[in-house]
Amino acid sequence: MKADPFVQLRLLDLQALDSALDRLAHRRRTLPELAEIERLDAQVAGLRDGIVRAETELSDLQREQDRFEREIDQVRTRKARDEERLASGAITNPKQLQDIEHEVATLTRRQSDLEDGELEVMEKVETVQKELDALTGQRDQHLADRAAAEARRDEAFAEIDAEIARTRAQRDELAPSFPADLLALYEKIRAKEGTGAAAIGQGRCGGCRLDLMQNEIADVRAAGVDDVLRHEECGRIMVRTAESGL
Ligand SMILES: [Zn+2]
Repeated sequence: MKADPFVQLRLLDLQALDSALDRLAHRRRTLPELAEIERLDAQVAGLRDGIVRAETELSDLQREQDRFEREIDQVRTRKARDEERLASGAITNPKQLQDIEHEVATLTRRQSDLEDGELEVMEKVETVQKELDALTGQRDQHLADRAAAEARRDEAFAEIDAEIARTRAQRDELAPSFPADLLALYEKIRAKEGTGAAAIGQGRCGGCRLDLMQNEIADVRAAGVDDVLRHEECGRIMVRTAESGL
């Protein structure tokens, strides 16, 4: 293949733009914020089971506490009714009076037991509520950190995307200036090797960084200025520049 040496030099400009686009895409993929968001998501997910467990336990305990309160209310009501009957003086039968007094005593003991039981449940509620608060506190902190990381990510994305758009516009302007066959060859090599063209610098291929053999240097020297040269080792288009040292 043949191409004007100035066109060959411009291939290095095209490669520079493509390399810049590759670096920008890499930077976009490997932003530290992406790893941070992933890490925070894992931490939030790790807390989820504990939070669900504590919430379930808490609602069970609260139901238990409600049950105690209802029972205590019932006992209190019944006791108040008994005490009222005793105070009314309406009951004069000693056996009946004794039965009611006995029931009041029983209800008083029962109320005390229920109140002890409720207190125990309330202490458990307090403990579990503290656990739950600690877990949701951690989760909320992670979510806040995640939101901050997302904002930084989006800011970086916007900056990178603007740079990509600028670089791509330059590339789109430059690309049509090449002969179709040369551009196609460049693209084919670039798809395979990551880069399509490289300058020869100090007797070395700038693409794979291998020193050219004596016979390769002789071939390069013998080639016409418009011959499109390719490095046998890596297949890339080798562009001769003023700094090639040949
Ligand atoms: Zn090479």
